[in-house]
Amino acid sequence: MTSVLTDKHPCFSANAQHQYARMHLPVAPRCNISCNYCSRKFDCVNESRPGVTSEVLSAVEAKEKFERVKAEIPNLSVVGIAGPGDALANWDETRETIELIKQVDPGMIFCLSTNGLLLPEYAPALIKLGVKHVTVTVNCIDPAVGAQIYGTVNYQGKRYVGIEGSEILLHNQQEGIMYLAGHGATVKVNIVMIKLVNDWHIPDVVSKVKQLGACMTNIMPFIPAPGSVFSGLPATNMRDVNELRASCAGELKQMTHCRQCRADAIGLLGQDRANEFRSCASQVEP
Ligand code: SF4
Ligand code: SF4
Repeated sequence: MTSVLTDKHPCFSANAQHQYARMHLPVAPRCNISCNYCSRKFDCVNESRPGVTSEVLSAVEAKEKFERVKAEIPNLSVVGIAGPGDALANWDETRETIELIKQVDPGMIFCLSTNGLLLPEYAPALIKLGVKHVTVTVNCIDPAVGAQIYGTVNYQGKRYVGIEGSEILLHNQQEGIMYLAGHGATVKVNIVMIKLVNDWHIPDVVSKVKQLGACMTNIMPFIPAPGSVFSGLPATNMRDVNELRASCAGELKQMTHCRQCRADAIGLLGQDRANEFRSCASQVEP
């Protein structure tokens, strides 16, 4: 059973995708980890398509953009923060943006995506802020697999690498998901499927996050980003992704309509209107 809010969220409810629009506000440029599939010249793969750049907005600019978009797109139901870095690694900007928009539109659904490193610190504040939809990217539950996927993890002023870094990250992701789900948030887990790195391990990830309270997983194809550590690996083909989704569907609901949107996407899924609303200021250089 879904909540009334979830019924209006085009990503969490497949039925809503043709009726309700979402907008991503790119207020979060920094990141606290380095995924080997990421090139920091591009948007965060948490919720975005590599190969496109985004403008970066301040919270006040984001609120102004929201008002412009809402005036043009009355079926806008969701405001999301999905990069271009990590929403929680830019907590002040993320919090302020949500607070400012709530003041002008208290009925808006707020959503954010994160790598989960800072969830133990900020999950209670997210619940207090009224963020009811959270996406966490969890590519593995085994730190040995994580050590192949993550380069560095910057946490509480220290830089961790290898299994040590990945242990901290995976622990925090899991604690955060459990907290959020236990406090009424709807949690979706994104998983980047990388052949021979984590593809064989993904059914275990799906079972674990189900146990923690996630409502859905979104298995996404790995797309090699130029300049990233994994740039030489082959892209994962959709046939393999769909087979894996089908085999995991008995365990947990699978998202099959994700468009891997940009961090500044606007409109119905699949009909991006970001260009109509982009300002020239603060472009992230490719
Ligand atoms: Fe890149 Fe996102 Fe990973 Fe950060 S969490 S390194 S922005 S893919
Ligand atoms: Fe929704 Fe996927 Fe786009 Fe995020 S990337 S807004 S989950 S369709």
